[in-house]
Amino acid sequence: MPTQPRAFEDPAALAREIRQLQAAGKRIGFVPTMGALHAGHLSLAQASAAKCDVTVVSIFVNPTQFAPGEDFERYPRTWEADLQLLSSVEPVWVFAPAVETMYPPGSSTVVQAAEIARPWEGAQRPIHFDGVCTVVLKLFMAVPADEAFFGQKDFQQCRVIEQMTHDLLLPITITRCPIVREADGLAMSSRNRYLSAEERERALAISAGLAEAQRRIEAGERNALILSQVVRESLTTAGITEIDYVAVADPRNLESVETIAREVVILVAVRVGTTRLIDNLWLPNLK
Ligand code: AMP
Repeated sequence: MPTQPRAFEDPAALAREIRQLQAAGKRIGFVPTMGALHAGHLSLAQASAAKCDVTVVSIFVNPTQFAPGEDFERYPRTWEADLQLLSSVEPVWVFAPAVETMYPPGSSTVVQAAEIARPWEGAQRPIHFDGVCTVVLKLFMAVPADEAFFGQKDFQQCRVIEQMTHDLLLPITITRCPIVREADGLAMSSRNRYLSAEERERALAISAGLAEAQRRIEAGERNALILSQVVRESLTTAGITEIDYVAVADPRNLESVETIAREVVILVAVRVGTTRLIDNLWLPNLK
């Protein structure tokens, strides 16, 4: 019988236990999340459990990465179901701090995200990555793990966190994990539950467009403009007209490229109804 995960609210108690385990030679893995967990989150916890003795999953809807008017208030909070899902991973601990714990009254120190945070998501959501970096650094302090696992679904976020870890000499290893998709291709996201049945159908054009771009690349297409048009055409044909960006970029610095070389990432952000969705295709080893 899977047991319910141990839950911690107090970072001091959690850090004490982690340090005791580390002193005994144990490796601690960490998966930061905002809850409303799905199989994508679970895959990160499983990747951690495969390499680490204890996995800590944090559940914290971070107010500072949402701009006014975004979905902070309505972001799904599904605590019981989250614990249930995680009970298949053992041993897993859950860290669920209060907002006042992560942002004590009077606190005002923030992290300014690296250059790589500026384009694409950063241009659309100007305060987002500063909020992400600030909370991830705090979470790394609260959960002094050896290795942290992030999903490639948020490709730019992975790059931003990797850069912060490098720049601030953070003593933790960052591991990127592949995107988990629904059977029909839609990238799993806590926000998918906002979609109506009709919107969900339309949203399939995102992964379908990326899959078509991949086929073209594998057939030898190297022209970035043509590849971005392939993705855009899939989106507009399905009636997705609110396209924040389709970027064909160098995965290391996220700068646009005209001709793709050995590796490429195609980043997409769109709005389907009122729901903002992101997805990407990362091809690291082209011939
Ligand atoms: P979130 O709760 O949306 O902040 O996501 C927490 C972590 O789960 C991040 O590292 C995400 O990139 C990762 N994640 C979210 N969706 C997926 C997915 N479909 N596949 C893999 N990882 C994901």
